[in-house]
Amino acid sequence: MALIVQKYGGTSVGSVERIEAVADKVKAFHDQGHQLVVVVSAMSGETNRLIGLAKEIDHRPDPRELDVVVATGEQVTIGLLAIALRKRGLEARSYAGWQVRILTDGAHGKARILDIDTAALRADLEAGRIAVVAGFQGVDALGNVTTLGRGGSDTTAVALAAALGADECQIYTDVDGVYTTDPRVEARARRLPRITFEEMLEMASQGSKVLQIRSVEFAGKYRVPLRVLSSFQDGPGTLITFEEDDGVETPLVSGIAFNRDEAKVTLVGIPDCPGVAYRILGPIADANIEVDVIVQNVGVDGTTSLTFTVHRNDMERAAAILKGVARELGAREVLTDDRVAKVAIVGVGMRSHAGVAARMFKALAEENINIQMISTSEIKVTVVIEEKYLELAVRALHSAFDLDKVGEPAAVAVS
Ligand code: ADP
Ligand code: ASP
Ligand code: MG
Repeated sequence: MALIVQKYGGTSVGSVERIEAVADKVKAFHDQGHQLVVVVSAMSGETNRLIGLAKEIDHRPDPRELDVVVATGEQVTIGLLAIALRKRGLEARSYAGWQVRILTDGAHGKARILDIDTAALRADLEAGRIAVVAGFQGVDALGNVTTLGRGGSDTTAVALAAALGADECQIYTDVDGVYTTDPRVEARARRLPRITFEEMLEMASQGSKVLQIRSVEFAGKYRVPLRVLSSFQDGPGTLITFEEDDGVETPLVSGIAFNRDEAKVTLVGIPDCPGVAYRILGPIADANIEVDVIVQNVGVDGTTSLTFTVHRNDMERAAAILKGVARELGAREVLTDDRVAKVAIVGVGMRSHAGVAARMFKALAEENINIQMISTSEIKVTVVIEEKYLELAVRALHSAFDLDKVGEPAAVAVS
């Protein structure tokens, strides 16, 4: 008998029929004697619909009130799944985030989980009941409903698994595991039977939305055994491992991640002297805007330029802040570009091999794709390119690193 936390994503609970199918699956696990906590997302498209409603009223809705609206999506699915489980003769009980008491900070729209009260869930498990918990939401110390950022139900599941000391956290989704790249972009992508935690962290941080990055961080911090599986077909999925294979077979690159939600902000003609980067990026950080790739040019004639990327939604806000900074610094101008995208190759095999970046740049050069920015870590190389070349770049890199030959052949993704 094991304690398992399962999470079913939006497509997996996208209709009443699919919720009934999830209930059948949960029942089968329960019948095998496992203790189960089930986390669900909102029905697919629902979170976007709710955000859309709020934005019809106000282009920039109040963050506290927006959270009140979007958190309702998950409240519907916990109730429906609990009804479906009870219809099958199982004792099931639904919980919104505040009912469990998933305590978060007060950063509406991107709240972080601080603590989870497991008392009610443990009582359910001991009594043989199935707890059905709303993903993506929590409550802050003042009692405000908060949400954890898009894709946040993954994080709810892994955090619950950590807090309960679960034997495994299973993320059920519309693909049967983690692939060498998004199978929607490259049909020749292959399922990876295993991926190291560090690689998964880089894949998620570079844009692979199959797992929210914070869920991977939680899994690493608390060593939660984590697996990505399909809701629609049986199979072993992908296990996130904490040990690297020592073998000769470690591929140079395990996967390709990408992100379209990028925008680039440049300050031209800034003084080339100490403290300037801080004066530019300090106010950006104070505004809670996440900065990703940063490039500063070599100074010429006492001036230089600094470029960084932010989430596309934050570009206007970042540019508005920098207009003030630019005036103070005597900078020439602030430029913005929201037609850029980021592509990254990720793999622990890179650690022990030189020339990986060069091979990446060669593949992009052969497709005539211009590289605008570059950033590297021990196990990844990221480039920023023009958005229109994104899919071409992903496919070129997938074949340049022989990724169609590793892992398992793709199963068809359900959408
Ligand atoms: P859910 O609603 O179940 O949380 P998501 O849409 O958030 O599902 O995540 C699953 C999707 O992630 C897949 O349908 C796929 O298009 C996308 N994806 C991106 N990169 C990868 C990858 N490397 N492997 C598998 N899926 C990926
Ligand atoms: N429903 C939320 C979203 O669409 C959370 C999730 O699905 O993980 O982002
Ligand atoms: Mg998701």
